[in-house]
Amino acid sequence: MQINRREFSCLAALGVGAQLLPSVSLVAEDRRIGYCIVGLGRISMQHFMPAVKMSSKSKVTALVSGHRDKAERMAAEYGVPSGSIYNYENYDEIRKNPGIDAVYIALPNSMHADYAIRAAKAGKHVLCEKPMATSVEQCRAMIQACESACRKLMIAYRCQYEPTHSRAVQLLQEGKLGSIQSIESAFGFLIAPNEWRLDKKLSGGGPLVDVGIYCLNASRYLAGEEPAQVTGLSCVVDKDGRFAQVEETLSWTMRFPGGALASCTCTYGSPMRGYFRVRGSRGTMTVDPAFNYDKLHLLMQLEDGETQEVAPDDPDPRQFLREADHMADCILQNKEPKTPGREGLRDVELIERIYRSCEKRSA
Ligand code: NAD
Repeated sequence: MQINRREFSCLAALGVGAQLLPSVSLVAEDRRIGYCIVGLGRISMQHFMPAVKMSSKSKVTALVSGHRDKAERMAAEYGVPSGSIYNYENYDEIRKNPGIDAVYIALPNSMHADYAIRAAKAGKHVLCEKPMATSVEQCRAMIQACESACRKLMIAYRCQYEPTHSRAVQLLQEGKLGSIQSIESAFGFLIAPNEWRLDKKLSGGGPLVDVGIYCLNASRYLAGEEPAQVTGLSCVVDKDGRFAQVEETLSWTMRFPGGALASCTCTYGSPMRGYFRVRGSRGTMTVDPAFNYDKLHLLMQLEDGETQEVAPDDPDPRQFLREADHMADCILQNKEPKTPGREGLRDVELIERIYRSCEKRSA
């Protein structure tokens, strides 16, 4: 077995022979990894935790919440002992809990970095919601903290664990569409006032960091390369006070080294179903809806008359189940996640470039 320098120091830190053990605290008869859920909001309670309940590889073993009553209700539902309920003040005590292998961070965006770094310092692996953080600097600090602690860091890009997206990438890699000319993608929703998403200190930005990131991440894996140039424009149309700190709508264009162009739009001002469309020299492929939790649909239509349709029966929360299981496999088998910290970092780097481009054009 060949190991690199970092793996060597990780193994040395764990002690002789540790390479023979998975990097997880296991009870012999139960090889499921234990998740501590950090933040009991919509995504964790409605999607991620129900997925973990269906999993044969993971389980919910601890909770972190500022609302004790809500945490106790969820603890009863998931069989979490009351001693494994934490709050934001005593969070660092997760270090002493051997039932926690990994944390799942589902907090407002600007809190991701702090809670991820503290988890790594407590010896826990990290599965962090998108966007990874609100600055490149924070992303780098998260990667560094997890590397130093020899812990896995995975960003929860659920679409990368979804079969329609995988099929779209496969068709493009097989060259079915010929040379890629353009990618169009959009995603948005109508935001209610008083959402933390409208508070820049908590969100780090507007729809770009929240839903535009799906179009951005998909454009990169559909193109199969990193964009060389980005240009953006943003606007506020509804002057009703909701958009004092963040943009309402933002459109951007990216040019890839191979020549393809991507044009994307995201908004908090319109109930806009997420989709993407790829136009190639031999035809067009559309995935619509593309970013929903279930019922995704792919249609490829080629110039020669060939069509392909993919509409998998993949109910919510299967995307989250695959994501949670992938993280569990990476921990149990000591593998690098498909969507590691540097994947999240690339999106945050591009987000910063898009915002800079918008600023230049706002005058
Ligand atoms: P939410 O508002 O429903 O939940 C946020 C949680 O953070 C709540 O439990 C809240 O009590 C807690 N919290 C702690 N400190 C807070 C503070 N100062 N202000 C507000 N809330 C605070 O949000 P959500 O929609 O579940 O989003 C959480 C994270 O998950 C975000 O990073 C978001 O981008 C991400 N997300 C991912 C997906 C996906 O499909 N992967 C979908 C939605 C949200």
